[in-house]
Amino acid sequence: MTIYQNLIAGEWTGADAVENINPSDTKEVVGLYASGSAADTRNAIAAAKAAFPAWSRSGIWERHVILKKAGDEIMARKDELGALLAREEGKTLPEAIGETIRASQIFEFFAGEALRLAGEVVPSVRPNIGVEITREPLGVIGIITPWNFPIAIPAWKIAPALCYGNTIVFKPAELVPGCSWAIVDILNRAGLPKGVLNLVMGKGSIVGQTMLDSPDLAGITFTGSVGTGKRVAVSSIEHNRKIQLEMGGKNPMVVLDDADLSVAVEAAANSAFFSTGQRCTASSRLIVTEGIHDRFVAAMTEKLKTLNVDHALKTGTHIGPVVDERQLKTDTDYIEIGKKEGAKLAFGGELISRDTPGFYLQPTLFTEATNQMRISREEIFGPVASVIRVKDYDEALAVANDTPFGLSSGIATTSLKHATHFKRNAEAGMVMVNLPTAGVDFHVPFGGRKGSSYGSREQGKYAAEFFTTVKTAYTLA
Ligand code: NAD
Repeated sequence: MTIYQNLIAGEWTGADAVENINPSDTKEVVGLYASGSAADTRNAIAAAKAAFPAWSRSGIWERHVILKKAGDEIMARKDELGALLAREEGKTLPEAIGETIRASQIFEFFAGEALRLAGEVVPSVRPNIGVEITREPLGVIGIITPWNFPIAIPAWKIAPALCYGNTIVFKPAELVPGCSWAIVDILNRAGLPKGVLNLVMGKGSIVGQTMLDSPDLAGITFTGSVGTGKRVAVSSIEHNRKIQLEMGGKNPMVVLDDADLSVAVEAAANSAFFSTGQRCTASSRLIVTEGIHDRFVAAMTEKLKTLNVDHALKTGTHIGPVVDERQLKTDTDYIEIGKKEGAKLAFGGELISRDTPGFYLQPTLFTEATNQMRISREEIFGPVASVIRVKDYDEALAVANDTPFGLSSGIATTSLKHATHFKRNAEAGMVMVNLPTAGVDFHVPFGGRKGSSYGSREQGKYAAEFFTTVKTAYTLA
């Protein structure tokens, strides 16, 4: 089998490889992917450092052309790359193709942004002096990504990093190297100079840790768990390095008495269970007011009966497998914890066998949960959600905000008053009204607050905040 290698200083390299396994069919090896060493990582950092002076001064047209070419190729190959994504991560094929299209759109967006780079010229408060405010690239950026969006998250970090003139050392999640390799290959062939984008696949404890220990990374943009995010933060203080951290969530979805029941059920089922509940914006706390509670639970249970859990590539599959054995164990452990804590298992909770050996778990709904239970406080990151019964809107808002996290927050209501109040008072970076908590646009800011995020927003023009540093120049006329 061919080994998909690391790209360091423009050369494909690496003989040590690990198998990329399909969670829908654990007999299938998607490919063999290089597993880099600490020395590989240091070489990649050195290559990115050497490439920075020229790339940081490259013309915006050159950046535009490369980013546009990449976006076009990803779009032209959306079915093939979507199938690769579905095979390595387990998202259903339509979800995987949708994510691939989004990656293409992100490259298109930043191809445009490259041509819109601008600064400000303002008068000084002192006579005969001019002031220019410009944005300059940061330097070498470390990009560390998780497994749950194998193409979109790498795209939304790589595209702005290049657009604003930075060079990159990119370390994708061990579980899903395939889409990352494909993006790097596409950008490399699109004409990036050697060393501008370096790919080092491999273990977090080796490749990731070597990046954290390096004094040569000017910034690290990280998406992943809270624990790893904290390590990134601590190491970065020591190196005086800029960071952008996107971490966990425990997102609430409030359903009020006056909600349109079908809108509420569609939004809640999507939020909690699509993409196998493995989205940082997934909702796992369904906070429902008394008057609609029983009807909502009954309708949700009926809805869950209609969702097929099966092989990600099979037509008609609504929910693919859990990503791997470890995550499956986490999910089933939390199901046991929920039962022990006194929540009532209203649907699911069982492993399922299908034609192929995979990590199949029924969507699982608890009722009679409280917001103090561990299943309501800790991120599970699987197809497991709980219904928390509340008296009224005020209690719903208080429970929604009573969490260490603050990524996305949703409400189903037909009341303008409550929707408006919720938009203003939800302690989250993103608020959804009559929509799932997950599912966001590529041209507007993405990110959270409290324990979910640290640093400036990703995506849209707000991305410039992290990937550039501001310079103020004074000139005597
Ligand atoms: P993870 O923290 O285990 O891994 C994330 C990345 O960090 C991987 O590439 C991993 O190899 C690397 N890593 C591990 N140890 C490291 C170390 N010591 N030094 C440097 N890098 C290291 O997270 P995961 O399991 O891949 O992803 C799931 C998590 O990601 C969930 O908590 C989820 O909520 C979060 N997530 C957040 C967002 C968001 O935007 N807020 C989006 C997607 C996923």
